[in-house]
Amino acid sequence: MGSHCDDSIVSSVKIPTIKFTKLFINGEFVDSISGKTFETIDPRTGDVIARIAEGDEEDIDLAVKAARDAFDHGPWPRLPGSERAKIMMKFADLIDQNVEELAALDTIDAGKLFSMGKAMDIPQVAATLRYYAGAADKIHGDVLKMSREFHAYTLREPIGVVGHIIPWNYPSTLLFMKISPALAAGCTMVVKPAEQTPLSALYYAHLAKLAGMPNGVLNVVTGFGPTAGAAVSTHMDIDAISFTGSPEVGRKVMKAAAESNLKVVSLELGGKSPLIIFDDADVDVAAQLALTGILFNKGEICVASSRVYVQEGIYDEVVKKLVEKAKAWVVGDPFDPEVQQGPQVDKKQFERILSYIEHGKREGATLLIGGKPLGGKGYYIEPTIFTDFKEEMLIAKDEIFGPVMALAKFKTIEEAIERANKSRYGLAAGIVTKDLNVANTVSRSIRAGTIWINCYFAFDNDCPFAGYKMSGFGSDFGLDALHKYLHVKSVVTPIYNTPWL
Ligand code: NAD
Repeated sequence: MGSHCDDSIVSSVKIPTIKFTKLFINGEFVDSISGKTFETIDPRTGDVIARIAEGDEEDIDLAVKAARDAFDHGPWPRLPGSERAKIMMKFADLIDQNVEELAALDTIDAGKLFSMGKAMDIPQVAATLRYYAGAADKIHGDVLKMSREFHAYTLREPIGVVGHIIPWNYPSTLLFMKISPALAAGCTMVVKPAEQTPLSALYYAHLAKLAGMPNGVLNVVTGFGPTAGAAVSTHMDIDAISFTGSPEVGRKVMKAAAESNLKVVSLELGGKSPLIIFDDADVDVAAQLALTGILFNKGEICVASSRVYVQEGIYDEVVKKLVEKAKAWVVGDPFDPEVQQGPQVDKKQFERILSYIEHGKREGATLLIGGKPLGGKGYYIEPTIFTDFKEEMLIAKDEIFGPVMALAKFKTIEEAIERANKSRYGLAAGIVTKDLNVANTVSRSIRAGTIWINCYFAFDNDCPFAGYKMSGFGSDFGLDALHKYLHVKSVVTPIYNTPWL
């Protein structure tokens, strides 16, 4: 297996200076009220990058007050959509002008590939902002056909103050997936980034200010989940909460929302997505999709193809190809352009993945390749493939969120569908076949929010992304996500002497 885990590559990299380490509340960078800070760590080495202000309940309260005031009295919700769009477009331009620095921040904070951040993640968040900016002046209700002598229409109004809670695996993408439609809708907001990856969110707050975003519209409070995150979900003055993260925490957020002010909740949770490869597939293409499907972003992606089902006719050939490709896969410093997989986000995640690998061995799955940590320091793990897994095993039930694939053989389409659906998750699935009928049957039979046929990870701003089952509910992306941040109001008035209804 290719490995570039030597220290020389790490030390040759130019690390950006960390400019923003404080909370961003009401348009200003401020210390936390308690004065506390926490360390953010570089997963390439385990070294401390910077100390970041640690917000908790009191800081969330300040941020909510700023957002509430900006919503109730400020210009943002009252501006014509086209004016909000101008500021969002400027924000997007500023992101484009700072692509390298933003990509580097996510690389040192999350271990993400720098080349990928520069070419995809960061330009893509600017594109997300522009997509929703384009929708900001097209928000309107409908004229209704009433059954009696009334005239009625609907209005779509911004939902109010929104709390966004973000995980660490895509610090930029997931932030903009949430704030862009909310900004377009005219909402104001408090963002709680993941404690593992606070750097880029603070930088984006600075760019929002430069773009002319009014004070209080976008507030960023860095801190921990049980304190700052919990304060968002219990706050009485937050109208809606949009959460991406684990089902365990999603459940807590929903419970807190229910027990506080019954705020509107949307949850984007985990996945254990199946990829089904049929006998008629091109073996090389299928093996590449399967491998990339699990190793992309070092497996720290909610839609990773962590369960791969291969039909018996080509199973042996696919296994052979997978091993070849996994051996050639390059793990190492994420700034190195040849590297395909960087370090796991932190020590906790690194140890969690390794413990799942031990579970897999104990449960009786066959370790085909990988399974060990790589390099002397940092949180690198070999691409790992288990075969002969059963859906009852922990490695097939739980989201490992690491470079660990579970592979199995199947005979019939019915068996593939049944096994693919045997999961409490339903986020995504992939199908590899040349047979349109098979693709149609399987795509309609699998209970998951996104189905990729002969491709994987094909996302688009216009393509709604939502889960089935314990993968959550409420769309991100697409115009459906815009509607998440809008209330619909019916306005009804009698009409007299109408010639017809
Ligand atoms: P996590 O649930 O531990 O944390 C997510 C966020 O919630 C963090 O900001 C954290 O600080 C906060 N949090 C923690 N405890 C909280 C509490 N009690 N109240 C409120 N907020 C709290 O998840 P993670 O480990 O950061 O991310 C990995 C998980 O996210 C995986 O399960 C993954 O599948 C999921 N994820 C889902 C999607 C999706 O769109 N469906 C996308 C990316 C990641």
